[in-house]
Parts: sequence; C-alpha cells; structure tokens
Amino acid sequence: MSGHTILLETPLLVALNIAPNRKKRLEDAGFHTVYDLLYTFPLRYEDHRPQDLSLLDEDQATVAVWGVVRGVPTLRYYGGKKSRLAVSIETSEGQELKAVWFNQPYLRQRLLPGTPLLLYGLYDRRMQHITVRETTFSPDQSHKEGLSAVYPTVAGMSPKTLKSLLDRLLDHPGLVVDEVIPQSLRQKYRLLSRKEALYMMHRPQDMNDVAKGRRTLAYEELFLFQLELAMLRARRTKQPGLSHAIKHDALGQVINRLPFTLTSAQERVLAEILSDMEKPEGMYRLLQGDVGSGKTVIAALALYAVVTAGRQGALLVPTEVLAMQHVRSIRKLLPLSVSIGLLTGRTTAGQRKEMMQKLSQGALDLVIGTHALLNDELTFRDLGLVVIDEQHRFGVEQRRMILNKGRQVDVLLMTATPIPRTLTLAFFGDLDVSVLDELPKGRKAVETLWTTPNRFASVLALIEQEIGKGRQAYIIAPLIEESEKVDLQNAIDLTERIIQLKPHWKVGLLHGRLSGNEKERVMHSFVSGEVDVLVTTTVIEVGVDVPNATVMVIIDADRFGLATLHQLRGRVGRSGHQAYCVLVADPKNEVARERLKVMREERDGFTIAQKDLELRGPGDIFGIKQSGLPTFRVSDLTSLRDLKILEVAHKDARSFFSSHLSDPNAFLELPPEERPPALVKFVELKRAQYIVPD
Ligand code: ADP
Ligand code: MG
Repeated sequence: MSGHTILLETPLLVALNIAPNRKKRLEDAGFHTVYDLLYTFPLRYEDHRPQDLSLLDEDQATVAVWGVVRGVPTLRYYGGKKSRLAVSIETSEGQELKAVWFNQPYLRQRLLPGTPLLLYGLYDRRMQHITVRETTFSPDQSHKEGLSAVYPTVAGMSPKTLKSLLDRLLDHPGLVVDEVIPQSLRQKYRLLSRKEALYMMHRPQDMNDVAKGRRTLAYEELFLFQLELAMLRARRTKQPGLSHAIKHDALGQVINRLPFTLTSAQERVLAEILSDMEKPEGMYRLLQGDVGSGKTVIAALALYAVVTAGRQGALLVPTEVLAMQHVRSIRKLLPLSVSIGLLTGRTTAGQRKEMMQKLSQGALDLVIGTHALLNDELTFRDLGLVVIDEQHRFGVEQRRMILNKGRQVDVLLMTATPIPRTLTLAFFGDLDVSVLDELPKGRKAVETLWTTPNRFASVLALIEQEIGKGRQAYIIAPLIEESEKVDLQNAIDLTERIIQLKPHWKVGLLHGRLSGNEKERVMHSFVSGEVDVLVTTTVIEVGVDVPNATVMVIIDADRFGLATLHQLRGRVGRSGHQAYCVLVADPKNEVARERLKVMREERDGFTIAQKDLELRGPGDIFGIKQSGLPTFRVSDLTSLRDLKILEVAHKDARSFFSSHLSDPNAFLELPPEERPPALVKFVELKRAQYIVPD
C-alpha cells in the first residue's frame, strides 16, 4: 500500500492506514490531514551525536553520551521518596564517567553490565558525571546522524506518538509536497523547496538546517497570511460603502439623558466615528482606550446612530459574561424603542430560531453576542454597523465572517491594548485609529497593595471595611496553568474557606463551567448588590463593569501577565469611590517581584506594557504577546528576524494581489511556475470564502 501518492491535503486516515479506533484521538488533537501533522514542528532539538567529552570547553554542558554500562548500580534513598541512582559508564569514545538519575529507582533493573545506552543530560566536567534527563536503551544508530527533534504534547498525544506518525509520513515514498510560493519570489529570497524546508525542520543535520527551513516556512506562512488580508481588504472595499442618514436630534437627546457628561475625548472620538459613518466610504476604525476610559458608551451611541438611520447593528464580544453585561448596560442607555437581542453559544435552539427570523426580517434593531453571531445562517435585513469589543480576542477568520453578513458594513474595532503602527498595518491593513486618552472625571487612582498569602486576614479586613461602606469586592482565585479542573477546584475551595471565615458575607462564585443562565444569575446578583463578594476565575478579566465594586483581590498575582493584571485591576475604580487592588503573592524570583512593583507604581496601560517589555527583555520587542495578535505555526513575531520577514511578505503579497488577483482572469494568465498548485488551491478556497453578497 505504500506505492500511492499522498498530498498535504490527503486525510491522515488514507495516508497512513490508521486504525479507526485511533482516528478519534487524532482528530481530537486537530490532526485531520497530512498538512496538520507535517506542519506541527519540534519544540526544540537535541544533539544526540556522540562527542568527545574531553574536548568540551565549558565546565557544564548538555551532552549526549553513547556508551555501555560498566559495574553495578548503586541506589540511595533520601528525604522520604527521593532517590539517587548511579552507575559507571564507558563511552563510545573510551572514557569512563558516572551517570546519575534522580527519582527513577526503577531503572536499576535495566542497568545490567554491558547494556548499550544513549544518555542525554547535564555533564559536569570536574565531577566527571552526567545527570541524566533522558535515557534510551539499545539506541537506534540513526540518532548518531543528526539532531533529534523533540515534539510538543498535543491534546494528550505524546511527543513519541507524534514523532512516530511523522516518521511514517517523512519516510513515505509517495509523499508529494506541492509548492505554494511563486517561483520568482522563491528565487528572489533563495528559499528552499517546500518539501526540503519541511525535512530541514523535522530532520535537520544541524541548527543551520533548522534556520534555513524556518526561514522558508516563515516566509510562506506570512506571505499567505498577508495574501488573505489583501483579499479581506479587497472584499471590504469592493462595494460602495453605506452612507448612514443619522438623526442627530434623536442621538443628541440620548446623549443628554446619559447619567454622566461625555469626556472631551469621548466627544471627539464619537464625532470621528459618526462622520465616518455618514461618508459613503466604508468605515474601518480602531478605537483604542485604556481600561475604564468608557468605550462601551461610544459603542452604544454609534449603534444607536445606525438605528436612527434605519439600519441594524451588531456588537461582537469575546465572552458570554460580557455579552450579557452589554445588553444590560446598553439597554439602560438607549431608548426603550430600540430592540436588542442577546445571542450566545448557550441561547436555546428555539430562542435562536426566533431571533434569526427577527434579524432577517428587520424586527430586531441590535444584536449583542459572542462567536455565535458569526454563524453563517444568521442574516440581517439591513446590517449597517458591526462593533467588535476586545478585538484582540478575534482573528481574521472572524472578521471575514462578519463582513460576509452584509454589504459593505461599517466596522468599529475596540481595544484596550495599544498596538504599534507597523503591526496594525500588517494585521489590519489600512485602518483609522481613534484614541480615548482621557479617563472620566472624578476617578480616584486605584490604590494597589501587595501582600503575602500569610497575611490574608488583613485582606479580608479590608474587604470587611468596604462592605461596611456598602461596597463590593472581587477575589480572583489562583490560577494553575492549563488545568481548568484544578482552577475550578481552587475557586470552590477558596469560596468555602471565605464562607467559613466570614459567615455573614454574601459570597458568589462565578466560573467558566457554569451555564449561561447560572452565569447571568450570579453576575446579576453581584450587579444588584445582593452579593458582597464575587469569587471568580479570570472569566471576569475583560470588560466587566460593576462601578460599586471597590476591591479587587488577586491571589497568586505573580502567575498573571502584567496585561492581565492591568485588565483585572481595571474592574475597580469605575466610580468616584476610592478603590483598592490587592496583589497576593510571595514570589521568590527577582523579575516577578519587580513586575508586582510595576503594578503598584504604575496605572497607565501603555506604561505598564512598556515596563513589562523591559522586564521580559528583548524576547518580545513589540509586545506581541500582550496585544493578543495571532500566533503562527512557524513564525515568531516577537523576534526581530521574523518581523522583517513579515514586512517583506506584506509588500510581496500586496503587489501579488494587485497585479494578479484583483482581476480574476489575470491569475489564470500567469505561467504555471508563478501559480504553483498549492497557491491555486489556496486562492480558490479563499475566493469561495469571501463571498460578496448582493
Ligand atoms: P472600557 O473602556 O474599559 O470598556 P467602560 O465602557 O466599561 O470602560 O466604562 C467604565 C465605566 O465608566 C462605566 O461604569 C461607565 O458607565 C463609566 N463612564 C463612561 N463614560 C463616562 C463619563 N464620561 N463619565 C463618567 N463615567 C463614565
Ligand atoms: Mg470594555
């Protein structure tokens, strides 16, 4: 069965004769096609080639040692369950050294004299021993030839399984990897063939191979990404925009009835948005404003403006909690005559059907919702404006889906994170930016305290004091990375502990596993003041607005990034009352302590982002991780090297698009080497996705 040809899009099932029972596991891990597997790259590489240890320069180095067991192993236990196992090894280069394993007592039985081994670990030249990290018994000689790739664990699939599947693909004689980059560009940058680049990544001889493979694949990835953005942009500007006939008196009345006066920054930004909406060109604007600067009211007014012009509006948000809150608060700001629907993943099928009908008939003015809004079946009678809140939580895919919903709708993106200009260009194309650079008046700076877990009683005392004044508090439960189950348990434990210590408090618990109704109920009881203290996981992070809450306690604050801490702190200090943010943590390392200090001293989101960069060093020069921009399989935009590739790929994709893709026939006229088979498929696929409704 190995005579057949397999392509990147061939299903793995077909390519590798995978047993049906393993199929599900693969698919759950996101592996459907040959592409999915071949484009899963090693985390790192290990050099397993034998080397002469006497030639090492450093006193300590990570090395691979090929050898055989000499002598009898010794095993010692200490401190209860801990153990140290040691044995003498004779290396393939004829040296003698001691190999040491910690906490792997069971290996003793296998260390019989004469057993061939490949050890990988930290070698100490003075002590003449190696602390073993990885042990391979009777190793395969092929490891001697090049670097060994170490793969990640993907959705419960072990690195070993991944590697063996990849080996089967890479050894498959029928594997054909179609080119995707036009030949002229490949020549211009001296890129490898796509197949060669993939082999360099998976089976390099040395790190130089990896660098060459990466360069080719990073260009490929960024070129295709930019090509898609060019198509998105063309789709957006293809039709004439809508010029909305906004009724300014109606809007003015709503503004007059707001419970506050707009800040001058809000007035300016609103004017920019309204003037865009009235112009016949489509609006594509990013509204940037720090947490608490009052973006929601701007969104509400813009949405109302489109309703006065007789069209519909949609507000897309990343979480259900936020969607429900926006419905509540926008409901209060706008006249009752405006009908507003809520649509999330938890909306029942019946309600959903009814709402879809209303939207398509125009019986609903506004809809606020999560990803569920993007469903292709959802259509509007006359959509005029889409607002995307916390836009960094959404990608190109979502922007495309929303554009497909109407004619040339106006789009307003909102974000609290400042994004450098070069990157906005690369990720959004041309986009206008409005900045809310002023907080509403009367706000007092949130007082930020840092305390250690053993002083939790004083934290509770502060909350007690605030509850006494009629205020409320949030407590963010500790976060243990990557385990939703453990996080949940932590939140439950913490809630119980607090109820025991403070039986007279009314405590609510909000977490991601609750159903929509339950979330709404808990949130509502907090908003209405029934609950004094809300214990929650980071589901609360973005956007939540309960002005009466004045205390934000963050347990294990050192586990969170500064951007998240800033977002969390932004949940309080939303009224004229003095508010507090208490960071509970006892970090041992200097950088972590420094970061908490930054939080204590700074309150401006932009400055915090800057300081965070300084502390993290040059690893993430442009703050990409902060900004929540997309991550890629190969490219790492936190590095200068790949940002340069992004820049050229951006230019190349744009010019390729305007010369060969903007007119459908021009592409067909290109010589075959300029439209390689995989590029043709990519373009066809994207063209089908970017439908232009009439
Ligand atoms: P964000 O920009 O973080 O989304 P919100 O829109 O949630 O901020 O606004 C934060 C709080 O400030 C809300 O309670 C809102 O009602 C209030 N707010 C907004 N604008 C003003 C203003 N001009 N004056 C006073 N309070 C305001
Ligand atoms: Mg907000």
